[in-house]
Amino acid sequence: MITQNLIVQMEDADWNSVEEMPGLRYKFLIDANHTDSRGLSLGALEVATGAVLPPHHHAPQEIYLFYSGVGEVILGDDVHAVKPGTAVFIPEHCGHGLINKSTEPLAFYWIFPTDSWEEIEYIFDKPVGD
Ligand code: FE
Repeated sequence: MITQNLIVQMEDADWNSVEEMPGLRYKFLIDANHTDSRGLSLGALEVATGAVLPPHHHAPQEIYLFYSGVGEVILGDDVHAVKPGTAVFIPEHCGHGLINKSTEPLAFYWIFPTDSWEEIEYIFDKPVGD
């Protein structure tokens, strides 16, 4: 089995961002568009000081694993503190979002049970930017 395209270094992946989500940047790590992978995908997202990941939900379940910074995750009707080492399971269509009120970026890995992140249909609880 040829396995070169199954290994990714965090530092080699480029950061991406979108105008509608100020203060957020993300990388694709394991993703069928970049690696010879399927069925699972992995990426990293950084939430700058004062930024939020707006509450949203989607059909596939998701895992968050925090590796840097501190902040709060909105999960369903609750808000929980998160720090490096916090892992969160997000059930199908359970609303979730993030708030970073700290002075450092809040960073985590996400995992989806899909070939790629592009398959995820995001449903935001209210229009982004409002
Ligand atoms: Fe999500």
